[in-house]
Amino acid sequence: MNFQYWQPEIEKMPRGDLESLQLQKLKAAIVNALRTTFYKERLAKAGITSADDIKTLSDLKRIPFTTKNDLRDGFPYGFLSIPKDDVVRLHASSGTTGIPTTIYFSRDDIKRWATYMARCIYGTGCGRSDVFQNMISYGLFTGGLGLHQGGEEVGMLVIPAGAGNTARQFKLMQDFGTTVIHATPSFLLHVESKMREAGVKRETLSIKCAFAGAEPYSEDTRKRIEGLLKIDVYNSYGLSEMNGPGVAFECQCKEGMHIWEDGYIAEIVNPDTLEPVKDGERGELILTILCREATPLFRYRTRDLTSFYTEPCACGRTHRRIRRITGRSDDMLIINGVNVFPSQIEEVIMGMKEVGNNYLIVVEKDGALDKLTVKTEIMPDIFMDDSRPLNALKDKIKATLQASISISPRVELHESGSLPVPEGKAVRVQDLRPKDV
Ligand code: AMP
Ligand code: ZN
Repeated sequence: MNFQYWQPEIEKMPRGDLESLQLQKLKAAIVNALRTTFYKERLAKAGITSADDIKTLSDLKRIPFTTKNDLRDGFPYGFLSIPKDDVVRLHASSGTTGIPTTIYFSRDDIKRWATYMARCIYGTGCGRSDVFQNMISYGLFTGGLGLHQGGEEVGMLVIPAGAGNTARQFKLMQDFGTTVIHATPSFLLHVESKMREAGVKRETLSIKCAFAGAEPYSEDTRKRIEGLLKIDVYNSYGLSEMNGPGVAFECQCKEGMHIWEDGYIAEIVNPDTLEPVKDGERGELILTILCREATPLFRYRTRDLTSFYTEPCACGRTHRRIRRITGRSDDMLIINGVNVFPSQIEEVIMGMKEVGNNYLIVVEKDGALDKLTVKTEIMPDIFMDDSRPLNALKDKIKATLQASISISPRVELHESGSLPVPEGKAVRVQDLRPKDV
């Protein structure tokens, strides 16, 4: 295979040098973090008051884990380490409104992020001559702008198509000879069925590869998309707390995703004991970001379950690889790429006086896409046979949920006492999507 590297000296750096670089950057991150109100206190508690207190990489373990709740508690500026005037952008985790987990970027942070993304894209064999149609949401969600900047950095012609509207996507692909696409795996499958429905012939398209991420999918799903669309699919992993995409990406070998270890220190721990797992064992991925000055984060609990490959990759990159994400260590649902916590739904429906005490969240497949249904009981004083107020209530629940979780669910109203009440722990979520990961 003809491998290509965007920054060969870094991507193939000997492990020893890579670790020295990590230590140097970790010290710089400590200096930044000591300027934030959150870490100033947290690091002081751990006995760290200057970069000199970090002597080796294992000193990182002295710092406690940082969680999503810490980020929420620190909202809006508790994690900001540079003057506000030097911030050029913010992003936030998908599917959240109200108090999101907000990340700030300096101009250099954006440049670095684009460079990491360029490494990912170039490493799949794409380059200047490619036309890249970015079919994922732009906005606070990092997937759109993240890949967009990386594509431009590589020198591709980038089409900021955004998500949805398959008819327009096909038109763009045909008009501009798109060769590379980026979407969630479920949207890629949806595109394929729409292609058949619309009678768009594969021969009229020039697509050769796709980047797919933002939600879990299996190797079988990858193969299915590859077979149906006759393209190569590369797995793309990231999370907004760690900039977004560009944390880990597959190379041409398509055997696990390289984590850019000069930008991130990765640990994998048992999510119950929080002790490190044995090399190669599955656990929760913990990430420390070294490539962002404006919002430092140490030992962030991603809640994503994965494991390290123990063998080096055939491509010659020395940065370790993680396996596909196979699940989460919390109850977060990912619905068509959007993160939703059941508690967000509960907050909305339980806040409405017409809503009864029992509810059920059902997630299932509707074709290639995910479908969310919220079933809720209504108060006994509301009559089930009077459809006008019921429809109004349905619409109200739908609109409030849409505002809170950025997804418009189907809403079903049920008579008081009619939803199943399990013995013991309440089962509020039924995820009926096939588990083939
Ligand atoms: P967000 O912060 O909104 O970008 O969401 C990040 C979350 O999406 C991650 O923590 C993962 O749970 C999930 N995710 C992103 N990329 C992938 C991927 N390639 N495979 C599985 N899950 C992913
Ligand atoms: Zn590789």
